[in-house]
Amino acid sequence: MIHLEVGEPDFDTPPNIIQAGVEALRAGKTHYTPSVGIHELREAIACRYENTYGVDVDPGCVVVTSGCSPALLLALAAIIDDGSEVILSDPHYACYPNFISFLGGVPVFAPTTAADGFQMDPDYVKTLINNKTKAILINSPSNPTGALLAPERLQALASLGVLVISDEIYHGLVYEGRERSILEFTDKSFAINGFSKLYAMTGWRLGYVICPPEFVRPLQKMIQNFFISPADFVQWAGLEALTNSSQATVIMKNTFNERRVYMLKRLRDIGFQIDVDPTAAFYILADARRFSRDSYTLAFDILEQTAVGVAPGIDFGQSAEGYLRFSYTNSLELIKKALDRIELYIRQRYG
Ligand code: PMP
Repeated sequence: MIHLEVGEPDFDTPPNIIQAGVEALRAGKTHYTPSVGIHELREAIACRYENTYGVDVDPGCVVVTSGCSPALLLALAAIIDDGSEVILSDPHYACYPNFISFLGGVPVFAPTTAADGFQMDPDYVKTLINNKTKAILINSPSNPTGALLAPERLQALASLGVLVISDEIYHGLVYEGRERSILEFTDKSFAINGFSKLYAMTGWRLGYVICPPEFVRPLQKMIQNFFISPADFVQWAGLEALTNSSQATVIMKNTFNERRVYMLKRLRDIGFQIDVDPTAAFYILADARRFSRDSYTLAFDILEQTAVGVAPGIDFGQSAEGYLRFSYTNSLELIKKALDRIELYIRQRYG
């Protein structure tokens, strides 16, 4: 089987980061840490945001977590009461509605279209806001679309007067254009990020949230009770990632881009429709409605007939029904082989 459905880098963590983790273990970094993370890492994260986006970040507003997922859960838990509404785009990262519903909130979807580059429309989002609205949840670059939100849209969303939660986990994996942080547009926001994607550190479980000062204590209390702290040695490895890994990330990024360009061309040649080139993350959300309007059945048929895994669009929301998500987190060689198989399948089945 060839995996094009997986949402994690196929690369191993760069050796210097592994080395830093091992050294930290040997140096006795095996204890609980402050619940909001070690000071050194919080400072490095603040520095990273300052250097990359030109924003002022107080290290005291950085809360380190065991991945982006706990950061999302904590941020949403801090603002959601029963019946609270959170606005998010459709399609969206499959887990978002689950976080919101689990906490007693209601996900409210803002549909987007391929023709509009899967960009959230701030004018439409405005019509969804009411007195139950607690936040707008954005994700640029996006999973599953690989799209970047244009700065004007970020600006417009930020100016709606609602707290913005910005999942910035794919920052750094941008092949055309430039990603912008929500913190460039509003302080009334949570910037959530992590080490899983850019540094190929999914299994280490390390992330963070930069939040308004009044939320630090509530987050700290939840971490103290539910998790105690992020892993000690992992935070030291994260510090190495932030301060000393630009070369390794450039190599991974260039490799992803080479695969993106190849995959885009092949998918279009096979007959999938892709209106706007995805320019970031490691996903292509391709319109397969020419072949089938039932993405779940199509994905399973492709799996059974060709032994290639792709993700059905419906997993990411109603607006992605009839689409398939292809991840380029596999070698160019295997991507070629997988697309050869899919091409043959489509030709035999649909002529
Ligand atoms: N947000 C998005 C948009 C993701 O795609 C993923 C991973 N698939 C996560 C968050 C989870 O990241 P982490 O490994 O840091 O928990």
